[in-house]
Order: sequence, then structure tokens, then C-alpha cells
Amino acid sequence: RFTTAAEIDEPVNPPVQINYTKLLLNGKFVDSASGKTFPTLDPRTGEVIAHVAEGDAEDINRAVSAARKAFDEGPWPRMSAYERSRIMLRFADLVEKHILELAQLETWDNGKPYEQALNSELPEFVRLFHYYAGWADKIHGLTVPADGPYQVQVLHEPIGVAGQIIPWNFPLLMFAWKVGPALACGNTIVLKSAEQTPLTALYVAKLFHEAGLPDGVLNVVSGFGPTAGAALASHMDVDKLALTGSTDTGKIVLELAARSNLKPVTLELGGKSPFIICGDADIDNAVEQAHFALFFNQGQCCCAGSRTYVHERVYDEFVEKAKARAVRRTVGDPFKKGIEQGPQIDSDQFKKILRYIRSGIDGNATLECGGERLGSKGYFIQPTVFSNVQDNMLIAQDEIFGPVQCISKFKEIDEVIKRANATRYGLAAGVFTKNIDTANTVSRGLRAGTVWVNCYDVFDAAIPFGGYKMSGIGREKGIYSLNNYLQVKAVVSPLKNPAW
Ligand code: NAD
Repeated sequence: RFTTAAEIDEPVNPPVQINYTKLLLNGKFVDSASGKTFPTLDPRTGEVIAHVAEGDAEDINRAVSAARKAFDEGPWPRMSAYERSRIMLRFADLVEKHILELAQLETWDNGKPYEQALNSELPEFVRLFHYYAGWADKIHGLTVPADGPYQVQVLHEPIGVAGQIIPWNFPLLMFAWKVGPALACGNTIVLKSAEQTPLTALYVAKLFHEAGLPDGVLNVVSGFGPTAGAALASHMDVDKLALTGSTDTGKIVLELAARSNLKPVTLELGGKSPFIICGDADIDNAVEQAHFALFFNQGQCCCAGSRTYVHERVYDEFVEKAKARAVRRTVGDPFKKGIEQGPQIDSDQFKKILRYIRSGIDGNATLECGGERLGSKGYFIQPTVFSNVQDNMLIAQDEIFGPVQCISKFKEIDEVIKRANATRYGLAAGVFTKNIDTANTVSRGLRAGTVWVNCYDVFDAAIPFGGYKMSGIGREKGIYSLNNYLQVKAVVSPLKNPAW
């Protein structure tokens, strides 16, 4: 069964030094205006890793005025796009040079398996900056054949000061999804990291300055949502806001943006993504992928495949194998080799997940395995599988954001499409089938921003990502992300000799 509690209760700290704990404003590390700090905790134990400067409204003011000055007076937006691209590439090189320390810090602050941070997330981070550095000098406008003797140019200009609020589940990747396109387009930034995971954003922002990023272009404020985050969302001098987080927070910041200066907002929010396994699917592959889709990153993924629908013909076999796979899952200190699952991020999430598990049991879903905490310290939860889950149960409707797989049975394709769409969310979905017609019908029928066919969680810098319905507004990554950070200006002038 799962790793023993004794192994979990003796965490070994990584050798990485924690050098950056202040706010990064106008190219310098400074204390918060109030002098306050807050602790960032090790999810393996709940103990303090470091005390970090706590930014609030006054620090957001300082950060925004630095970003405003860097935008209005340059050099960043006026620098050649090629030079901006080169700074981004130099930054990516520095991240590669410091990959071990960054992966250690990410695991320590977040609790995710070190092998995942090192071999998957850090390389993807570098890839994202290569991708956006490539865009910097390929963003250009149009000329338009208007009706009349006019020359019409459409310029694509940076939007200005971007406010960016990121979550704790992928601290570095969320930094890259937001900062990459904003900088490629020539904007300046105030980024608020998540209060649970402030350490890596400060580290990489420092590296960006070493790579030649001018002061004031990227300001990082650590702090809490209702103080620092809300101040950023309602700031009159912020030209654009982007948030990844919960749907409730998305509603709050959208309202703050509207009540202040109507800054445009992109939102990447929650999900309750269906994973549909048809009767003809390769069951062993589907079991493995459905397991990965849900349990990856301790279940803390906005696009987690958190409603597993299985065709009645293969249901029993699937449930048996899904349970066996979950029982085999290795849970433990995320720094140890071969560990698939570390602790949940914090005590709030840990308690919330255990409450959902209780509600599944009370609602008469069948608990196949797991269901309890693991160890006596930190926030470890047993990989949990429920079968016989009904659509009206809380565990089938709410985003649990934890290692809890919920399996339901279906009969007909039309029926499962309807049930899969009967949610307030629409972030992602998966379908497993060998029949191309079924794959096409299901992928077109689902109202979700991503549909993975016979795979799951396949990401790339070039693939757009975002949600339908209450999963968000707009798309990140790929060519689509650039529009979030550009203004469009039509320049019209009369033509002296229209024939030419
Ligand atoms: P959250 O939405 O509260 O936090 C995300 C970010 O928003 C953080 O930086 C936070 O400080 C900031 N924030 C919070 N309140 C704010 C406010 N009033 N104004 C401005 N910014 C604010 O998410 P959470 O509390 O950390 O997690 C709660 C739930 O959100 C999770 O259980 C999960 O369901 C969901 N979540 C989704 C994602 C995702 O990737 N879509 C990421 C994290 C959490």
C-alpha cells in the first residue's frame, strides 16, 4: 500500500539557499512599506521555510508607478523587438543554469515531486520563454484596403502596465504563461505571486534582471489576495489584468476591474473536467491516463479529469484496475526518488479535500480505496477512488482540487455528452475510443476549451488553453495569448494619388 507515515515524517531539506524574500520593485529587492512579513510553509510538515515581505496596497502603488514609468519612458516598449527577444533568451539560458536550485525551491514551497519539477516543469518553463522570445519580433500589424483614397495601417501596440495574479499549483509555469506573452509584446508588469508559494517568482525575476531586463519592467509583489491582489485589480493605472485562480476570485477581480478603470481582464479559473472512456477503448491505457489526469500534481490542476465516465460494458474492469493503480501510487516526501505524489499545498486545501471525501462517503458513493490522511505531519492524503458516483453528488459537481477520483457509469454517447456538459465549468475534457466517428462526435459536442483524444494533459507553449463558461475568459499560450497584451490602432491618412 501507500508509503508509510514514518517515511513521510522525516523530511530532508534541499541544499538550496533562500536568498530572495523581499519585494522586487523597480529592479531592487526592498522591504514592504509596512515592514510586515508572512511565513511561507513547507507542505510536508507545515513548518516555516522563510519569512517573506508582505506587500499590500501601498506596495502595489509603488510597483505600479515603477511599471508605469518603465512603460511611459522606456526603454522596454521602445527597444527593438529583436533586443527584447535576446533578453528573454538570455533569461531562459540563466534558468537552465539554475535549474537544480529552482526545481528544489519549487518542490520545497509547493510540495510537488522534485522529479516532476526538474524533468517536466522547468524544461517547459524554458520552452515557454523560447517560444515567446520567438514571437517578440514577429508581432506586426496590417495594411487594410479601405474603401476610398486612404492609406490605412493597423498597428499592434503593447497595452501598457499588465497586472498579473498567479496561483500556487504551478508557481513557475503560471509565471511563464503570464510574463512570457506580456514581455514579448513590450508591456511592463506587476506580478502578484500566490501567498502559499512566493519563493520561485522572486528567484526567476532576479535572473531576468541579470539577463538585462531594465528596471521597472517586471515588479514582483508577494502578498495576499484581498489586500495586494485586490489593490492590483482595482488600480487606475493598470491597463490590463490577468488572473489564474478560483472562479470566486475571478468574479471579484472582474468586478474590481469594472468598478475602477474598466481594464480588460483574462481569467483562467476552475474546472470539473469529464474524462470519457468508451466501450471500445484500450482499457489499460485509459486506466493509466485517467489516473494521471486526476492525480497529477496531487490533483491540484485546474484541468484535472475529475469526472471519470466509463461505458457500462467495461465499467467493472475499469473500476477494478483504477483502484489497483491508485493503491500502487507512491506517496511520500516529494524529494525522494520515485515519489508520484507529495502533500497538498496547505491546511485549508487539505481539510477541504477531506470534507469532500466525507461527503462522498455520506452520499453513498462507493469508496474503493484511500479516503484518509497519510502520516501525522503535513498535508498528505491517500489516493482516493470513488465508484458509483451520481451526477447530483457534491463530489461530482464541485472542484475538489485533490487526489480523489470519481467514477460514474454511462450507456449512450449522446447521454454522456449531455451529462459531461451539465456543469458550470468548461475547461477541458478527455475521450478514449478507437472509433474516429465517436471521437469526432464527442470532441465537437463537448463545451470545453481543450479536448484530449486518447491522451490527457498534453501541453505545449503553442497550444492555446482556457475555458468555456465559468472556467474563464480568454485564452493563454499560443498565438491567442498575444492579443491579451496588445492594443490595436488604426492609422488613416489620405492618399495623394489613389491610383498608386
Ligand atoms: P484563489 O483564487 O484564492 O487564489 C489565486 C490567486 O488569486 C492568489 O494569488 C490569490 O492571492 C489571489 N486572490 C485571492 N483573492 C483575491 C482577491 N480578492 N483579489 C485579488 N486576488 C485575489 O485560489 P485558492 O484559494 O488558492 O484556491 C481555492 C480554489 O481555487 C482551489 O481549491 C481550486 O479549486 C481553485 N484554484 C484553481 C487554480 C487554477 O489553476 N485554475 C489554481 C489554484 C486554485
